[in-house]
Amino acid sequence: MQPETENTSTGPMPAGKTLSDEDTLLRVRGLQKVYQTDAGPIEAVRDLTFDLGRGELACLVGPSGSGKTTLLKCIAGLMNVTSGEVILDGQEVTGPPKRMAVVFQEYGRSLFPWLRVDSNVELPLKNAGIDKAQRRELVQEALEAVGLDHVPRSYPWQLSGGMQQRVAIARAIAYQPEVLLMDEPFAAVDAQTRADLEDLIRSVWKKLGVTILFVTHDIDESVYLGQRVIMLSSSPTVIQDDIDIDLPAERTQLETRSAPRFTELRHHVYEQIQAAKQGFRPDGD
Ligand code: ADP
Ligand code: MG
Repeated sequence: MQPETENTSTGPMPAGKTLSDEDTLLRVRGLQKVYQTDAGPIEAVRDLTFDLGRGELACLVGPSGSGKTTLLKCIAGLMNVTSGEVILDGQEVTGPPKRMAVVFQEYGRSLFPWLRVDSNVELPLKNAGIDKAQRRELVQEALEAVGLDHVPRSYPWQLSGGMQQRVAIARAIAYQPEVLLMDEPFAAVDAQTRADLEDLIRSVWKKLGVTILFVTHDIDESVYLGQRVIMLSSSPTVIQDDIDIDLPAERTQLETRSAPRFTELRHHVYEQIQAAKQGFRPDGD
């Protein structure tokens, strides 16, 4: 989709805009992941190449089973790639990078039930060796940012699902990551809570300037949230399309979602996903 521009990097061209080295935070190059199973090899991800700019909020959308979680785990250094590479700030990712936080779908399993809300948020800061006074400040700020500063002494199981997911988000942002990866984080909450959490992500992103890669299978959510939507094909996965979301930066659930441009973009993404399901691949095979 992008015009041909000079690119000094080696390897396949990224699907999105061409960014300078300085503006690029994350590079994914020719990423392939093959799982070895008893039933034989499963090629979950075939060939993914894209860049994320510093401070970008990109959504990654693809049908279920298209390798979204696999890709995030490879980026987070939680899983080895079969071939290709993931480069964060010029360094190849070989284990969990320091300045990265991940929010998974299953908040129920990601919080420690025996720790109170504030201690759950504080734990990664303790592990990172941050001193007590600063930890307290970061925890307080993060809980304020997600609107949970009134329940620091509650246990996760005393909170609703949406509140628990906000605790998980607070824990991620308290850590002050450079990159925040989110894997279908709102899939298990009700529609109203989900809308609130989407707006929370956009406000946190604007406030903190963090780079976010947000994975979802929900097309509307990807268009509402992202500055950019990267669409994956079905497995074995390649990038189907990569589009700029040229909606205004100020977004509201009611106005943005009823804007004609929102409908157009949503339609485009939907068509691409349908094509992907029917086996159309951008390289024509
Ligand atoms: P998504 O998150 O898009 O739903 P996944 O990354 O979970 O997709 O899975 C992509 C493909 O890889 C699926 O076919 C899935 O069955 C397979 N897969 C995922 N994890 C494993 C694993 N640990 N071992 C074998 N196959 C796996
Ligand atoms: Mg998944």
